[in-house]
Amino acid sequence: MPPRRVIGIDAGGTKLLGGVVDDDLVVHHRVHRTWRGADRSETLDIIFEAVEEVRAAAPDVAAVGFGIPALVESETGVARWSTHLPLAGVRFRDVMSERLGLPVVVDNDANAAMLAESRFGAARDVSHAVLVALGTGIGSALLLDGRIYRGAGGLGAEIGHMVIDLHGPDCQGNCPGRGCLEVMASGSTIGREGRAAAAALPAWRDASILRRARVMQKYLQLLQAHQKDIAKLITDEHGKTLPDATGSVQRGIEVVEFVCGIPQLLKGEYSENVGTAVDTHTLRQAVGVCAGITPFNFPAMVPMWMFPVAIACGNTFILKPSEKVPSAAIRMAELFKEAGLPDGVFNVVHGDKAAVDAILAHPGIAAVSFVGSTPIAKYIYETCARNGKRVQALGGAKNHAVVLPDADLEFAADALIGAGYGSAGERCMAISAVVAVGAAADPLVKLLAKKAQAIKIGPGDAEGVEMGPLITAQHRDKVAGFIEKGKAEGARTVLDGGKPPAKEGFFLGTTLFDHVKPEMEVYKHEIFGPVLVVLRVDTLEQAIALVNRNPYANGTAIFTESGGAARRFENEVQVGMVGINVPIPVPVAFYSFGGWKNSLFGDLHVHGLEGVKFYTRTKVVTTRWPHQDTPAPGLHMPTLG
Ligand code: NAD
Repeated sequence: MPPRRVIGIDAGGTKLLGGVVDDDLVVHHRVHRTWRGADRSETLDIIFEAVEEVRAAAPDVAAVGFGIPALVESETGVARWSTHLPLAGVRFRDVMSERLGLPVVVDNDANAAMLAESRFGAARDVSHAVLVALGTGIGSALLLDGRIYRGAGGLGAEIGHMVIDLHGPDCQGNCPGRGCLEVMASGSTIGREGRAAAAALPAWRDASILRRARVMQKYLQLLQAHQKDIAKLITDEHGKTLPDATGSVQRGIEVVEFVCGIPQLLKGEYSENVGTAVDTHTLRQAVGVCAGITPFNFPAMVPMWMFPVAIACGNTFILKPSEKVPSAAIRMAELFKEAGLPDGVFNVVHGDKAAVDAILAHPGIAAVSFVGSTPIAKYIYETCARNGKRVQALGGAKNHAVVLPDADLEFAADALIGAGYGSAGERCMAISAVVAVGAAADPLVKLLAKKAQAIKIGPGDAEGVEMGPLITAQHRDKVAGFIEKGKAEGARTVLDGGKPPAKEGFFLGTTLFDHVKPEMEVYKHEIFGPVLVVLRVDTLEQAIALVNRNPYANGTAIFTESGGAARRFENEVQVGMVGINVPIPVPVAFYSFGGWKNSLFGDLHVHGLEGVKFYTRTKVVTTRWPHQDTPAPGLHMPTLG
């Protein structure tokens, strides 16, 4: 195959650098432009002309790669909060690709590059060449063997020099592919991550428990100090409100706080004289290299359910965050390194299905934790089981709140509004189905309608906003599709959020359906959006039976003043996490989080004692120190008596 040449353009706030990058990453036909003082609308033309100038000198180029963090935002005319950065990159790519008539890759953020690649997979090699040759945007980073591979800043960096920056300390120029940086992880990246994690394992596993605990204590301090920055990254990328993001980071940090007590948690058992002069004790040992695959809706909290526990237990860890929200993972990794974590113990790799499949197939990875949708959770569980890996795979949810007529309805309605519409319904513990019992129904629906209508919708970082946009246009359309279905199948539409006031971005209003029946699509599926459905039943028995018939069983709640009713509900309901007058009963870090049925495939829940169990294997040791009176062991079954 003839060598492929691509155009690389790296643009920052005031200037642009570009050139043709050949297969050996040598840059030719450089261009340099500045747009200081240029009108915003002129910048696209300046970029376009620069590309054309380079192309005139090298007409055989196969593609164009852009490293353009800031411009994407202004040139697509879409602010960060409304689309989140990566997707703006994809739009920029589409505009450029159409104008240039060439395949385009945008490295606005690791994710943009990934999304761009996933839409034209054939150009993977080309984009790698470009990405290695160019400076990269803020989120475009990979943590491998303790080193963060990241562009040192596109602006002012000379194309070509970046290659040197991106290569690892031990690279002899022979790393797989065309350089050390692979933004979209492939099997070979996972192979390298696996090797890095395996190499770091013996020393970390054998480090004293106190040393591991002290790294955690330092990490806790750093996370607390940077809680707001991490929350801001999440709001920028995901869209949820800043207070909501801050709260979710807090819940993740609490897991780190929990594992600061790892010396206590790893204590074994000891029994003296289980036989004559024979003692037995247990050890809790690390499992080995562990991996975590996480969803888009909690970019910091869900990874922190996993990696701090695994690492405190003496394992090494590879995190594959959601490709939709890549930045928080890298920030958390940087802080962990700063806390003194040895290189290779925590690794972050970005990617999609290809990276996940490589993790599932990797023989060196001993345990996999997954959180995401039910079909993928099932796939992860089955594949890991087939490949002999320990696995916990947490799936989707349809969480019910049962409201009895004796409940404080004003309180219940406030709780349900937060639980149903908070984070635009994109929470695995969101209440999406209200089961109104008897006389509770009419006044409750009235209250819900009034309160849901009053929710302030807007950009996640704007003052006073209570609900942000959905994660992607595709997801918004899927949720809007469910709203249409609900209307068509005869649910009573109390509030229709399907057509929010015209606003850029992936917003929906709040939707409330009443008189929903169990056979309706809006009830049967996890919608994962700001849609609350109300089902009416006559008795507590019927309510419990309804909840128990649902295939999901993550969380549930009951609102009542009756201790007897609450106790019965708690006892009979077949759901993993139960709230009594608590709408989102997410357990604190020293308890364990996990659902039942289609909401969890596996046996052990995350964090708390079950998390420690998942990331350790027990060994039972039986000891005898013979002396002259000890009888010689015989051939029959030893009874030790
Ligand atoms: P998702 O299942 O689409 O993605 C989760 C992870 O799996 C991501 O890292 C993604 O890259 C990867 N992935 C996606 N498709 C894959 C495939 N075909 N093969 C292999 N890997 C694949 O979930 P999401 O949309 O990111 O997150 C929302 C879902 O997560 C909802 O269903 C929600 O209920 C669930 N969730 C559950 C919990 C819980 O504790 N049970 C917590 C948070 C989110």
